[in-house]
Amino acid sequence: MRSIAGRVSPGTGSSSSLRPRPPVALYLHVPFCRSLCPYCDFVAVAGSAARGPSSRIAAFLDALVVELGLRADALDARFGPPGPGRQALESVYFGGGTPSLLPAETIAGLLALVDERFGLAFGAEVTLEANPGRDERGDPRALRKAGVTRLSFGAQSLRPAELRLLGRRHRSADVADAVAAAQAAGIGSVNLDLLYDLPGQSFADWIETLEAALALRPDHLSLYALTLDDPDAEGLTGPAGDHLPVASGARAWRERARPRQDDDRAAGQYHYAASVLARDGWHGYEISNWARPGHESRHNLAYWERRPYEAVGPGAHAFDGTVRRWNAARLDGYLAALLPAGGGAPALPPGGQEQLDPAMAAAEELILGLRTDRGVRREALLALPAGSSIFGWALAGELVELVQLGEDARVRLTSRGRLLSNELFSRLV
Ligand code: SF4
Repeated sequence: MRSIAGRVSPGTGSSSSLRPRPPVALYLHVPFCRSLCPYCDFVAVAGSAARGPSSRIAAFLDALVVELGLRADALDARFGPPGPGRQALESVYFGGGTPSLLPAETIAGLLALVDERFGLAFGAEVTLEANPGRDERGDPRALRKAGVTRLSFGAQSLRPAELRLLGRRHRSADVADAVAAAQAAGIGSVNLDLLYDLPGQSFADWIETLEAALALRPDHLSLYALTLDDPDAEGLTGPAGDHLPVASGARAWRERARPRQDDDRAAGQYHYAASVLARDGWHGYEISNWARPGHESRHNLAYWERRPYEAVGPGAHAFDGTVRRWNAARLDGYLAALLPAGGGAPALPPGGQEQLDPAMAAAEELILGLRTDRGVRREALLALPAGSSIFGWALAGELVELVQLGEDARVRLTSRGRLLSNELFSRLV
C-alpha cells in the first residue's frame, strides 16, 4: 500500500523523459479499511464510511467508473484509442486501503472496463493488495478467476505482540492461512509486506518474523522500515493534498512510538535481511524489494523505470513522462466532482500537478534508477552539474560501486549505500 507514486528504464537515458507518452500501467486506489492502523499514512477511511447503512463503498465504485471513463477519454484524445498505434497496459494494481474488501465480481467488472477503455495486454500483471484477516482477505480462487495474478498481503509482522502494537486486526496464523490459500488457488505470485524498526523491536524479534515469513514460501518480499511522518506538518493534507489529516489518537501513538525506534538497529535489521535473502537466491531488485527470480513486480518496476502510468481513486498519483499529477485524498471532494448532485456533468476530481523541467527529470531518473539493482549509467550521473564531485564523494564513501552491465558502465548502490541512500539522493536534487 505504497506510492512513490508508482512503480523509465533505470538509466535508459533521458531523451524520452520529457515526452508525454500513454500509460503502460494503471493504479486504482480503493480507500476503505475495516479499521485504521495508527502508523498509516495511506489514504484510508474506516468506520461507518466502510460498512453498514452509511457505507460510501457503492458511491465510490460509481465514482471510480466515471473517473476511469474520463481519464480514458482524455488519453484517447491525446494519444488515439488503444489499438495497434497505442500500447496496451502491462499491469494493473489495486492498492489501498484494503481492495480485498471488494467482491471478486467487482474486481472482474473493473478489469473488463479497464480492458475495454485502456487495453490490457495478454499476460498483464494484475496485483491486488489484501489484508490477511479472514474477513478481509477475499476469496483467492474467485480473485484468480476475476483476473488477479498477484496478491500482496499486508502482513507487517508475524509476532502477535507486534501485530497488536501496530493495531492490526489479523493474527500471525491468518498470514499463514492467507498465503496457503492463495498458493492453493494458483495465484501466480504472492508478496508479503513486512515492517522493521518497529517500536522496541529487538534484532531477535525481526529474525523471528523474517524466518516465519520465509517458511511460508512467498514469491516476493517488500521490507520497509516503519516511517512515522507528519503529513499535516508537511502541508500535504489540505483540500488538494494527497494525504488525509492525522487523527489525534494516531498522532499520540506516533509520538510514543518514535523514541522507541533506532536508526542503528534498523540498519542492522535491513543488513541482516539483505544478507539472508541474497544467500538464499532472492533477487534484491530494489532497495526495499526482493523476488524469487521471475517474480519481480512489473508494476513497481514501471514506477522506478519512470515509465508512464495512469491512476484513479482518491490520493492516486499518475505520470505521463512530463507531468506528475495527483488526485486529492478527500473522499467527499472525490465523490462530489464525479457524482455531482442534481445530475450535472461529472468533472475530474480535485488534485494537483507538477510539470517536470529537464533538471528535475534528470535528478528523478537518477534517484529512481539508483534504487534498483541495475543502477544508472555513469554518464547520466556525470552529466549533472555537480555530477563528478557527487560521484567521487559517493565512491570514496563506499556508497556506490562501478559495474559493467553489457556495454554500459553503471553506478549502483553498495549495501552501505542502500542504507544511506537518502544522504546521496539529497545531493542529486
Ligand atoms: S490496513 Fe493498511 S491501508 Fe488500512 S489503515 Fe492499516 S496500514 Fe493503512
